[in-house]
Amino acid sequence: MTMERLEATRAEMRRRGIDALLVSVGSDLPYLTTYRAFPLERITALVLPVDGDPSLFVPTLEAPRVKTTVAVVPWDETDDPVGRMAGLLPARGTIAVGDQMWASFLIAFQRHLPEASFVDAEPLMTSLRVIKEPGEIEALRDAAHGVDRVADELIDVRFSGRTEREISRTVTDMTLATGHESISFAIVASGPNGASPHHEPSDRVIRDGDAIVVDFGGRVRGYGSDTTRMYCVGTPPDGFEDAYAVLHDAQKAAVAAVRPGVTAESIDAVARTIIDDAGYGEAFIHRLGHGIGLDAHEQPYLVEGNDQVIRAGMAFSIEPGIYLPNRWGMRIEDIVVAVDSGVDRLNRSSRALRFVD
Ligand code: ZN
Ligand code: ZN
Ligand code: ZN
Repeated sequence: MTMERLEATRAEMRRRGIDALLVSVGSDLPYLTTYRAFPLERITALVLPVDGDPSLFVPTLEAPRVKTTVAVVPWDETDDPVGRMAGLLPARGTIAVGDQMWASFLIAFQRHLPEASFVDAEPLMTSLRVIKEPGEIEALRDAAHGVDRVADELIDVRFSGRTEREISRTVTDMTLATGHESISFAIVASGPNGASPHHEPSDRVIRDGDAIVVDFGGRVRGYGSDTTRMYCVGTPPDGFEDAYAVLHDAQKAAVAAVRPGVTAESIDAVARTIIDDAGYGEAFIHRLGHGIGLDAHEQPYLVEGNDQVIRAGMAFSIEPGIYLPNRWGMRIEDIVVAVDSGVDRLNRSSRALRFVD
């Protein structure tokens, strides 16, 4: 772990009265150690006492994979790793536990430390992770550039006569070819399937008159990409282009509304008001956006009721959609970063409706 992150984590622990931090699988671990653990039944966990050194407990067989500056403590098949870690934890202190630790491990820790109080580490970790460092923003930017290239190059791909699944595979291969280390999802939703925002690519054959939602992302140096662009084969369905103009305006206005000091919900409201006023309010069935970083979805969430104040360094999606069941769906999605001067839009590929063969 970088010294800066270690110090910032400790300062935040002190401020919150946390005596020790216990982090297992999920993205908090790579944030603190650069090591992403497999979610296995053998426990991997970082123990960070507020005034002591961090130790990363890993199963001995995983140890060769671990590259980190934190002290690695391998544990053998016949050890009691939870018991050993409990020995490093304050018997009566407040222990913050990462929100993705398996319940069975937490119950074992509680058995070993009956007088300690266990709290959710999520508020602590989010307060650290939600403001991206320059290096994290560069990774997000590189990831965005990769998917932008794919989004633009897709106009030369033949859609008609091919299945959603085939196009999804093409998008996956193209994204990996840009230097992404992995792909997280490649949604291809054609025709009426577009009305389901998280549609699983199917064997439906794309044909003339289909609008197609393509929403895809993966990881570059651990950080996520996530973009949605719209394609169309032949003449768009009735009313589609008018609705698309509304969606395009709403997305653009919401991006322009991003700046430090506004609330997360106020940005959602900008897009929602435009879509509402055009008569599609009922068809915009999800929040405007989600934070992105080491996780594909993380804080801040742009949703009505979230009065969290946007600060410089927060990275999140702006992705309004309009969905008409049994007819079509549409969404436009960019990742943006709030900066002192306003907003830095990371995705730069064309947001126009792209006509493809
Ligand atoms: Zn989504
Ligand atoms: Zn997306
Ligand atoms: Zn998204």
